[in-house]
Amino acid sequence: MENIIPKVREFKNEEVVTYSKDSLEYKSLMAEYERMENDFIEIPLVIGGEKIYTGITKECTVPHDNKKIIAKYHLASKKEARMAIESALNARKKWSKLAWDERVSIFMRAATLASGPWRNRLNASTMLGQSKTYKQAEIDSAAELIDFFKSGVYLLCKMYSEQPISTETTWNRQSYRPLEGFIFAVSPFNFTSICANLPSAPAMAGNVAIWKPSTSSAIYSNYVVYQLLEEAGLPAGVINFVPGNSSEIGDVILKDRNLAGIHFTGSTPTFQKMFKTIGENIENYKTFPRLVGETGGKNYVIAHKTADIKLLARGLRDGAFEYQGQKCSAASRAYIPKGIWDNLKEALFEDMKKVTVGSVKEYDTFMGAVIDQKAFDNITGYIKYAKDADDAKIIYGGNFSDEKGYFIEPTIILTDNPKFKTMEEEIFGPVLTVYLYEDDKFEEILYLADETSIYGLTGAIYAEDRYAIAKANDILENSAGNFYINIRPTGAVVGQQPFGGARLSGTNDKAGAMNNMMRWVSPRVVKEEFTK
Ligand code: NAD
Repeated sequence: MENIIPKVREFKNEEVVTYSKDSLEYKSLMAEYERMENDFIEIPLVIGGEKIYTGITKECTVPHDNKKIIAKYHLASKKEARMAIESALNARKKWSKLAWDERVSIFMRAATLASGPWRNRLNASTMLGQSKTYKQAEIDSAAELIDFFKSGVYLLCKMYSEQPISTETTWNRQSYRPLEGFIFAVSPFNFTSICANLPSAPAMAGNVAIWKPSTSSAIYSNYVVYQLLEEAGLPAGVINFVPGNSSEIGDVILKDRNLAGIHFTGSTPTFQKMFKTIGENIENYKTFPRLVGETGGKNYVIAHKTADIKLLARGLRDGAFEYQGQKCSAASRAYIPKGIWDNLKEALFEDMKKVTVGSVKEYDTFMGAVIDQKAFDNITGYIKYAKDADDAKIIYGGNFSDEKGYFIEPTIILTDNPKFKTMEEEIFGPVLTVYLYEDDKFEEILYLADETSIYGLTGAIYAEDRYAIAKANDILENSAGNFYINIRPTGAVVGQQPFGGARLSGTNDKAGAMNNMMRWVSPRVVKEEFTK
């Protein structure tokens, strides 16, 4: 090992490429899209660096062109889950001892590759597999992914430099050990960058991981991420790529004695299930597993009567409908004073004209398709429910078709019941429900919004009146881990708005921030005495 304390550059966000229609960047992105669209690949498990084809397979279809199959992926069963545990623990012997600057060099290299030659592959695979527009793909699979890798390096450097004080005759030192065991990283379908970060953050800190991607066509971009890490030099077995049937492989992995932590992003019921399994098995672990989970949301927009109408309309449109409402932070319930509703409705409906639905291959598409048939059925179930309800009506959109792709129109529901089903439950699709309140009942509405949902992820207040903003900031303190003033509740940027929520939105360890990195280490303090 070399004698070195390397300097790490302050973290700076990756610049987002804007892709004007005639730009070379856009043309080369779409050329990559078409190359991938016309190709067919087989996605293996990768355990200990070895590709495994189990023969139990599922297909990756393109959500906005749902007869188009772009890949077939193999699924692990219990046997491969056991192999992955063994391989991870084996890799741990060398990886956990490797000097940190050597370790993080791999992720710095991955960030550089993602920023350059791999950018199109990452973005095109995310457009194809998750139906993101070029804009939504760029902020996710390029910019945020790069930010996660770079900020991780910076955070580790900061963390390792944090040392206890010493006296004249003692020297106290603190090391940040990787956890003793392996990490189970379980990722959702909606953000390629989150998927990349779930196994990578623990790995940067010296841990080994088993990465189970979402059983959906998101596996397509996730495999590109895995290949990127391989190209950047990640040693075999440090991250094992293990798509599989959740309950089957989860059962083996969650009960394993060497499970040291879970890094999860997905729905609340899934995390609760995993938490429960771990609780039931608590006597059998070598160490208390760290449970880090970022889960669902039912995010609100509350307008005060002094709200700027244009800003509010834009915030509702983008907050609710970008990426088909499939962001965990998406606005899905709005509380609007009756006095501004007519003007707001006019501005919002005008803005909504730009929310075109279609293939993300078209430059002007605002919304692609939702991820799969299951999501389509679930979301349209809520729309049908609203159509049949006496206390709600659909005032915008409401149509859908799964014939060519899983397309759902951006839908706005107006209800006079503040506890209407779609005001309370996470839908995870392009559906916004609006409730109108008497202009002078602002404070009551803040309390109502606070107690209406089990979640506490994001929320936004729109007001020009500073007292109203301050009141909302105070009353809504526990309703959102990320609170926004006069801007939509989506679009958190690594390093700028550390992201995560409490209540049933997760453990709020703030992905990409120090709180999160601290969960993947176990500090060890050494005191040495120099006797006179
Ligand atoms: P999901 O819960 O259906 O799946 C998440 C992952 O868990 C997938 O890999 C899935 O295969 C796996 N899984 C399911 N059951 C399991 C089990 N019993 N054992 C082990 N693994 C299991 O979620 P999703 O549909 O992929 O993602 C959407 C959800 O994610 C929404 O609720 C959204 O709010 C949430 N989300 C939250 C954040 C955040 O930062 N808070 C970010 C993105 C998404």
